Amino acid sequence: MSSPAPPRPPFEPYKTKVVERIPNPTREERERALARAHYNLFNLRSDEVRIDLLTDSGTGAMSDRQWAAMMVGDESYAGSRNFAHFEETVRSLTGFPHIIPAHQGRAAENLLFSSLCRPGSIVPNNMHFDTTQAHVLHQHATPVNLAVAEAYDPESDFPFKGNVDVPALERLLRENGPDKVPLVMVTITNNTGGGQPVSLENLRQVAATAAAHRVPVYLDMCRWAENSYLVREREPGMGSRTVPEIGRAFFDLAAGATMSAKKDGLVNIGGFVATRDERLAEKLKEALVLFEGFPTYGGLARRDLEATSVGLVEATDLEYLEHRIGQVRYLAGLLAECGVPFFRPVGGHGVYLDVRRFLPHLTADDLPGQALVVELYREGGVRAVEVGSLMFGTSSGPGSRSLELVRLAIPRRVYSAGQLAYVADVVGRVHARRAAIRGVRMVYRPERLPHFTARFEPK
Ligand SMILES: *Cc1c(COP(=O)(O)O)cnc(C)c1O
Repeated sequence: MSSPAPPRPPFEPYKTKVVERIPNPTREERERALARAHYNLFNLRSDEVRIDLLTDSGTGAMSDRQWAAMMVGDESYAGSRNFAHFEETVRSLTGFPHIIPAHQGRAAENLLFSSLCRPGSIVPNNMHFDTTQAHVLHQHATPVNLAVAEAYDPESDFPFKGNVDVPALERLLRENGPDKVPLVMVTITNNTGGGQPVSLENLRQVAATAAAHRVPVYLDMCRWAENSYLVREREPGMGSRTVPEIGRAFFDLAAGATMSAKKDGLVNIGGFVATRDERLAEKLKEALVLFEGFPTYGGLARRDLEATSVGLVEATDLEYLEHRIGQVRYLAGLLAECGVPFFRPVGGHGVYLDVRRFLPHLTADDLPGQALVVELYREGGVRAVEVGSLMFGTSSGPGSRSLELVRLAIPRRVYSAGQLAYVADVVGRVHARRAAIRGVRMVYRPERLPHFTARFEPK
């Protein structure tokens, strides 16, 4: 029997104009860094990290056109022409009339949830992201995750594991009604559940169900371009449509959206809230002036808005997306060759290691995801992040189940195929010695968003 062809790196649709030297800490330096960081990789200095896959948020490389856009910043406090261009760009991609800029995704979440939620409100979502969950809780409201059952099975090859369980949504809305449920959120792609796409058909059903109960649907659209690409590839009848067209079909079903432009905006900082609701937009702008800034800059330099206008369009380019998703698949292919277990099918922005199968001898009390990110750093200076019981707690609302994953998030247009091959080697070496890996213990637990600042020690 012949073995399958080795994975082929995707073609890079760009060439390098500026380079940044990457650090190469020694084994002793990495050990010292781990102890100093209390085994929490958020506490490492970037010069202690060889390959940084902590997040794909705000870590991408801007294009020459985006850098050129920065030079035409019109830093007027009010009425900047960069805002006009930004507003026009977001309107033309989404069709939403009211565009409120914010400095990043969680600022957009704060504006939206503080305007719509009351104590006791319930917010359903396919799966809340960490900051989304924290902002719902901050309003004394309850986040409820309603993803389909396949979303919790790392080995199922279901193509739309981001989908909402529509019968469960119908039950929740019937039992609680619009007084208790101010909005339904749908996160495209589902970051918490492996970067998995939501199908257009599923969003249609969600929208119809929510409309029957007079509840608006908002999209968490951070990775809408990646979601659209995967829909184009996987959903029947979508193959001949462009990425912007598919994105627009999603927005047409929604009342508005929150965006972190640090993802599919291809910038290092930025975001917005968009809505069709004029009265809500007025309320959002009042909160914006209080917390972020005037409505024509929203806590950002105007040059950042200009770079975002260019980035949002570049993120929908097919060659860009083929390379982007191609990198994720290339890394997954190399890991599969070493027998490393990961969440399937691979989604939009990273490979998520399946911790329960990687470290089956550890229990939940051993914080196995955290133990694994420590070992990846120790082995080769690769920084990843736990996406599991530490990030989300063991229960997040009624009927919630838990995933135990470690995310290798791939920054946009940053690392080469050679560097991804290095990452696969490091993960493969850790996998080969997995039986000897011990758990970690949390010695300091902050109340909110614990993964950012918790401290650990080896067991
Ligand atoms: C990153 C992210 C956010 C929050 O955005 P920030 O820019 O980090 O504040 C919200 N939702 C999802 C799905 C995200 O990935």
